[in-house]
Amino acid sequence: MAKQKSDTIMDKVVSLCKRKGFIFQSSEIYGGLNSCYDYGPLGIELKRNIKDFWWKHMVQFRADIEGLDASILMHPRIWEASGHVAGFTDPLVDCKKCKQRFRADHVEEPGVCPACGGELTDERQFNLMFKTFMGPVEEQANVVYLRPETAQGIYVNFLNVLQSSRQKVPYGIAQIGKAFRNEITPGNFIFRTREFEQMEMQFFVKPDTATEWFEYWKQQRMEYYVKLGITKEKLAFHQHGPDELAHYAADAFDIEYQFPFGNMELEGIHNRTNFDLSRHQEYSGKDLSYFDDQTRERFVPYIIETSAGCDRTLLTCLVDAYEEEQLENDVRTVLHLAPEIAPVKAAVFPLVKRDGMPELAMKLIDELRPHFNVFYDHGGAIGRRYRRMDEVGTPFCLTVDSESLENQTVTIRERDSMQQERIAIDTVRKYLEDRITVRP
Ligand code: ATP
Repeated sequence: MAKQKSDTIMDKVVSLCKRKGFIFQSSEIYGGLNSCYDYGPLGIELKRNIKDFWWKHMVQFRADIEGLDASILMHPRIWEASGHVAGFTDPLVDCKKCKQRFRADHVEEPGVCPACGGELTDERQFNLMFKTFMGPVEEQANVVYLRPETAQGIYVNFLNVLQSSRQKVPYGIAQIGKAFRNEITPGNFIFRTREFEQMEMQFFVKPDTATEWFEYWKQQRMEYYVKLGITKEKLAFHQHGPDELAHYAADAFDIEYQFPFGNMELEGIHNRTNFDLSRHQEYSGKDLSYFDDQTRERFVPYIIETSAGCDRTLLTCLVDAYEEEQLENDVRTVLHLAPEIAPVKAAVFPLVKRDGMPELAMKLIDELRPHFNVFYDHGGAIGRRYRRMDEVGTPFCLTVDSESLENQTVTIRERDSMQQERIAIDTVRKYLEDRITVRP
């Protein structure tokens, strides 16, 4: 029998997200707002852990990258210099029959509506930037934009960070923050939305070393996703051909993931040449060149960019981790999330609600809580409690039983193997730390 649409992995992940409190439709009680989503209690933990994981690898573990948090609203001239006012457009077509809108470059048969087969209008260029007004008067002179990428906030702070941090080129600036694009066709849950978060790093280099650094960052970023727990075989590079290459880029590779809806971009790695700093020099009138005091050369640095979507990474982690595992008499739903990013690190259960077991379990929870996000559960059969934790990706479950009261030990069950071992209560923290801490 053909698979029902509701059986697809995406539908299952979307349903799990809602049911377990990872992701909700925004403004749901008002009927929802298209392509906007809210992260619930488990979703926000997962998202924070993903950002933390990225920050550790891109900033904390490195001496040559500094962090930044630039404002979302910036001087409107920035978007003229960057090319976004003139060129950040997608080709828009409308169906004359069913009135649906599409991105012309996403339509398979040119001129034909993919939904109803009707005739499509000619292409119009549609600027993706959200506009608003600064101050009380809504006139052209007061137009500001919600940033469509975080990168420009980094470029315009190139000198500030250089001078205050005493870095020398080559060095990088990293930033995590919201970006907004008025996408023509958002979709596939949180894959493409109009408001999203980016995790971007811009690495400033001497022009004749750009190709070398580009290769370095390609490798680093691919290895990063494997460390994040994503299945290696589902990741691949896609090099941009001449027709895909952005106006600023000399070379570009996407890291793609095999999503259930196709091979799609997860992150872009770009050699942006000196386009950005040269343009900001021209538009601001400020000298953004760099003097290398070892080689006694002055140059405008080239930029190697690594640009990842946070929400898209989160979707990748969920889709990649989701499994309906066939057991002997049962099917177990489990999220095989890397322990470092799992929303809840450990659950603590008293085997039964008496004989001092809940008290001992609570004591353990209190000891662990300052260090990990932990969860206490005494409801229902122990097997059901394990399953509830498997479904939200909790890597470890600790059970307090009658033996615990005698010899101060607990059983610890690992999510993926379902193997259990008995360890001393006073070693639990170290045990978890060894398996959960993010390492370079
Ligand atoms: P596309 O061609 O698919 O619109 P893009 O090539 O314009 O995407 P970039 O500008 O390279 O995308 O953006 C960098 C990263 O930001 C992407 O790899 C993606 O992870 C994330 N991203 C971009 N647009 C969106 C969006 N609308 N929703 C969620 N994430 C996004």
